[in-house]
Amino acid sequence: MKRSADTVRKWCEIILGQLGNPRVFALDVDEVDDVNTLILGSDTIPGPTLRALSEKAPGAAESGVLTFVSLHPSGSGSGVRLPDSLPEHQVVLMLAEQLQEEVWESSQGEAVPECPGHQHPARADAVDEVPSWVCPREGKVLRPILSADPPA
Ligand SMILES: [Zn+2]
Repeated sequence: MKRSADTVRKWCEIILGQLGNPRVFALDVDEVDDVNTLILGSDTIPGPTLRALSEKAPGAAESGVLTFVSLHPSGSGSGVRLPDSLPEHQVVLMLAEQLQEEVWESSQGEAVPECPGHQHPARADAVDEVPSWVCPREGKVLRPILSADPPA
């Protein structure tokens, strides 16, 4: 099934909200015919700043969505490939992990999202195929990642 850039962008915004609404300098979401092509050529990005996109993976063309997010005024950031063949919960988890990493880097490791009562941040994980924030130590489910409810 074809996943729309609008859907993915909305997920990114929900997740960023849960990560404390960091200042976003770039959020690019594009539907592409082949997610294995490297995204370069964004005017705002000087030099090789793409970290998460590794070299071309082997295999046939896979349609999907590419994201790139920058939380840094220099425009540096990272992207993630989201093939349409992946189930939704897996895509949401990939986005959550990537965005969490970017927030950590831009905030010197601030523990977001908060894991109540603990020093560590919550971790993105699938609970019965529902992407959720869980306590990495106790495995306790804190809340669904795409919950419409604001964090308590
Ligand atoms: Zn915890």
